Amino acid sequence: MDGAHGFIPTQMARRVTLLPGDGVGPEVVAAARLVLDAAGAGVEWDEQPAGQSARERMGEPVPQAAEESIRACGVALKGPMTTGGHGPGPRSANLELRRRLGLFAAVRPARTLTGAAGAREGVDVVVIRMNQEDLYAGVGFERGSEGAARLAEAVREQGGPVLPPDAGLSLKFITDSGAERVSRTAFAWAAANGRRRVTVVHKATVMPPTDGLFLDAARRVAAEHPSLEVDDMLLDTACHELARHPERVDVLLAPVMYGDVLSDLAAGMVGGLGMTPCANFGDDTAIFETVHGSAPRLAGSGRANPMAQILAGAMLLRHIGEARAAARVETAVAEVVREARTLTYDIAAGSPPASTSEVAEAVAERVGS
Ligand code: NAD
Repeated sequence: MDGAHGFIPTQMARRVTLLPGDGVGPEVVAAARLVLDAAGAGVEWDEQPAGQSARERMGEPVPQAAEESIRACGVALKGPMTTGGHGPGPRSANLELRRRLGLFAAVRPARTLTGAAGAREGVDVVVIRMNQEDLYAGVGFERGSEGAARLAEAVREQGGPVLPPDAGLSLKFITDSGAERVSRTAFAWAAANGRRRVTVVHKATVMPPTDGLFLDAARRVAAEHPSLEVDDMLLDTACHELARHPERVDVLLAPVMYGDVLSDLAAGMVGGLGMTPCANFGDDTAIFETVHGSAPRLAGSGRANPMAQILAGAMLLRHIGEARAAARVETAVAEVVREARTLTYDIAAGSPPASTSEVAEAVAERVGS
């Protein structure tokens, strides 16, 4: 199995790049750092600016020093980063990081922690999705453009439908190599983390060239993992199953777009985006972050839920071979949520909401005790 996917300790170095990011990023990253330091895993942080603020100050959303640090460390804890803003350079640090570092797979666990207001009981789902290709590759033509007209002509020449002249076009593509690579990560991650079944989510019935190819590649890789059950589901059926019978759903493997939808749906079922971490894997690097964005409305208010960032930190610890410290962090998070005395507004019920730093201190105290 490929250690580069990170769930097998491949390196002893504990130097980790820290990217505080934008909006609520610096607040939740500081919270995670406090907890990880309390866990005693001996991580040495190399803090680097990146994101919209770096783009405005330094002209680059991913400054060279940040990229070099991630490449050297192989591992980063990243806060959310805002897309857009003024100034030169690419608008999205997130897409830049994925592209430059070849982060081709995202692993997004969503697990119910008893005590979180609004969480459904019994959800323990992991969405593993492609990070590149698909509808997110940015291939498209505005309505009325020459590109749209030429593509419409090519479609017609190939015996396809006549596309209306006022149609905007967004192209979806999935490569066999990309589908196989994310499938390898998914099955290897599932096996290494004691999961039982991988369900491939697709719409091969209406998109055989892309989704049929994705399904075929996943089945090929599944054959190498006889200890895991494998099945497949149409996207709509998978959403219904997740909403109706979450306890039956284990690991979901999907292309980018479906994975995005499924992971936010799963997040909503376990108390919201403040509760779900994300690991991005490439061949040589891994970045651990939240599913949520920079939440500009909450920035600077001290109200953001730090649990997703703390749980991302636990995934990072497991990745660098600190499984015991990771388990201590996860147990401490679960205990603080179960007690329901120190929780942020989004998951608090009954007791007054706590601040980001109060939650971090409560978790850090548990981890250290
Ligand atoms: P968002 O995830 O920032 O916020 C969505 C909703 O969830 C908001 O109501 C927000 O208040 C709430 N929320 C988010 N994080 C929370 C937390 N920790 N605690 C409590 N509530 C929380 O999505 P958005 O507003 O669409 O995006 C804001 C910016 O973030 C955009 O520029 C977007 O492109 C970017 N973004 C970045 C990432 C990333 O860095 N990985 C991911 C998604 C979006």
